[in-house]
Amino acid sequence: MVWREDRSPASLYNPAMRKAIILSIGDELVLGQTVDTNSAWLSAELAAHGIVSLYHHTVADDQAAIADAITLASTRSELVIITGGLGPTDDDLTRQALADAMGVELVLHEPSLKVIRAFFISRGRNMPQRNRVQAMHPAGTIVIPNHCGAAPGIQAQLNDATIYVTPGVPREMHDMFREAILPHVTEGSADDDATAHTILTRKVNTFGMGESDVADKLGDLTDRSRNPMVGTTVSEGIVSVRIRSEFTDSTEAQRELDATVQTIEEKLGSIVFSHDDASLQEMLVPLLIERKQMVATAESCTGGLIGKMITDVSGSSAVYAGGWVTYTNEMKSSQLDVPAELFEQVGAVSQEVAVAMANGAVAQSGASLAVGITGIAGPDGGTVEKPVGTVWIGLAWKDGAGDIQSEALRFHLPGDRAAVRDRAAKCALQMVRFHLLGIDLNTIRWARGKR
Ligand code: AMP
Ligand code: MG
Repeated sequence: MVWREDRSPASLYNPAMRKAIILSIGDELVLGQTVDTNSAWLSAELAAHGIVSLYHHTVADDQAAIADAITLASTRSELVIITGGLGPTDDDLTRQALADAMGVELVLHEPSLKVIRAFFISRGRNMPQRNRVQAMHPAGTIVIPNHCGAAPGIQAQLNDATIYVTPGVPREMHDMFREAILPHVTEGSADDDATAHTILTRKVNTFGMGESDVADKLGDLTDRSRNPMVGTTVSEGIVSVRIRSEFTDSTEAQRELDATVQTIEEKLGSIVFSHDDASLQEMLVPLLIERKQMVATAESCTGGLIGKMITDVSGSSAVYAGGWVTYTNEMKSSQLDVPAELFEQVGAVSQEVAVAMANGAVAQSGASLAVGITGIAGPDGGTVEKPVGTVWIGLAWKDGAGDIQSEALRFHLPGDRAAVRDRAAKCALQMVRFHLLGIDLNTIRWARGKR
């Protein structure tokens, strides 16, 4: 496609950059029943090709509102991508709304009708009459084939904009975007084009240090004028370092991104556990497999959450023996041989009990390694000595001679009950990971403050 030379309006972004507007259509999106993942996915894909999204606009299944949104977008940007509302039912109004905005009628596209009929026949059915509408498109527009589903997409021209419409089903949208839309929008934007940009992003995830400590370690990498730009965000105890690499040349963007990631990893060391969206447990399970280790869990305050997290990962059956949720002192004693006198002497939330739980779990399960966890998730049950958020996590393992060894850490975890439990489980997973990698458990500094 052809891009204008002067680009407006100016925005947060480099004004020389190409801009797109993304519309997502559907009552379910506006009502909050379905999360609009299409806009996020499209924005990231476009950004990787140097096109930034000016805004996302989510519109209900309302023909006039969709037409208005299309008209507005077509005057604001040269590229508009619309997803959703191409289905066969009465609430699928995008194609009619586009025709309205363009001031044209819907016309039948015979080849699409044949394809839609064939699509149903290949699934052993006749085409329902209502699917005929999916072969309609606004007069003067181009039909985009759908390789994964029934509804074809549409390419249209309105005001300043080239408009693409795809089905809302994410898989169909992804396929159509990559097959038919991306090649067109990136046409003529070779690396020698002065206005071409590539934006690549990556996340480096850490657990075990607070955000400000991570930022301190990163030092001047976080200068706002640096490219690749580096920043931190924290979510559910995980501090992520976000890197954004923006260059004209895509090879350079990739090379600089990789170099920055490497520098970050050198500065942060073992608290880095993954890139992008991989969770702690998704990294831990393959590590356990590689080290041929079997883990068991003895949980009190987390109520089975650690076992849940591990078993969320496919392949965990090879490395997870199982676990106990021992909530009462009696269960801790009867199931895990925690000496009853410990509860009197040091209390259930103590180093001794966490270690005894982990020891018991190794002894009873035959696993090579176990975690024992006991704490006060709140909101009740805290004392001056042991406030809400106090959690002891014990780790026990069989050494080369077959004897059981152990270690434990105390945490003072922030947040409400759900947060304390979540962070506690993550601390336990990171402790197991550190143990397997031979890293000192005290490398975990986060939430270890004395009370
Ligand atoms: P539609 O093309 O509007 O018939 O949408 C078909 C299905 O795709 C819907 O039922 C949603 O489950 C899904 N969908 C539609 N739009 C989106 C979106 N923006 N993000 C994620 N899923 C979507
Ligand atoms: Mg819909």
